Amino acid sequence: MKIEVICALPEIFNALNYGINKKAIDSNKVEITITSLWDFVEENKRLDDAPFGGGPGVIVRYAPLSKSIESAKKRLPNAKVIYMSPQGQTLKQDFYEKTSFTELIIICGRYEGIDERIIDEYVDIELSVGDYILSGGEFGALIVIDNFIRQIPNVLNNKLSLEDSFSNNLLKYPQYTKPRSINGVKVPDILLSGNHKKINLWRLEQSVKITREKRPDLLDKKS
Ligand code: SAH
Repeated sequence: MKIEVICALPEIFNALNYGINKKAIDSNKVEITITSLWDFVEENKRLDDAPFGGGPGVIVRYAPLSKSIESAKKRLPNAKVIYMSPQGQTLKQDFYEKTSFTELIIICGRYEGIDERIIDEYVDIELSVGDYILSGGEFGALIVIDNFIRQIPNVLNNKLSLEDSFSNNLLKYPQYTKPRSINGVKVPDILLSGNHKKINLWRLEQSVKITREKRPDLLDKKS
C-alpha cells in the first residue's frame, strides 16, 4: 500500500517511527510519503487567507493544495483522494477492508479548514475520526494510517487483527498475564485448562457479554 499525506505540519508524522508502524514501513509493507504544503506556497504568498464573507480565522488557500495534489497524483496515479474532515463519514474498523485501497492521497486541513473548491475538484472521500474538532487533519490522518497498517496482511502475527474489538461487531474478551493471582484475584480457571476449544468458546461468550454491556448498538449490526 502506498500513502502520500499532504499537510502543513509534517513533523507530526514522526509518530509513525515507532512500534508496529515503524516495522511495517521498514519492511516495505507500506510506503508513506509526507509532503509539506509549504513547499508549494508561491513566493511572497501565504499558506492561508481570510474567508470571503468574513468570519473567524483563516483557511488553507486553493493554490498550494492544488499544486501538491497534482504533484502527488503523478507519483500515485491510481490514488483515491481522502480529505480528513469532521464533515466526512466516520472511520469504522471495516473501512480498510471495504475500500481495499492500494494507493491513497490524504489531505490534512488546518486553521478553519480548506477552500471548498479543492473538495469539489479533487476529493473522493471526506473522512472523519469522530464528532469532535481537532486542530488539524494530521491527527486524524495518523489515526487512519495506524488503523490501516495493522490490517495490512502479515503486519501483525497470526492474524491478530481479526480478534480485535469491532471485528465482527464484537468487543474483545478479557485478557490476563502473569502472575496468576493478584491480591487474591485469580485468572479464570478455564484459561489455565489448556483446552483451546473450551477457551475459544469462553472467549466468544465473554465477547458477546461485554459487547451487550458496553456497546449494545454493535450487536444490532452483527451479521
Ligand atoms: N472550522 C471547521 C473545523 C476546522 S478544524 C469546522 O467547523 O468544520 C481544522 C482541520 O482539522 C480540518 O480542516 C480537518 O482537516 C481537521 N479535522 C478537525 N476535526 C476533524 C475530525 N473530527 N476528523 C477528521 N479531521 C478533522
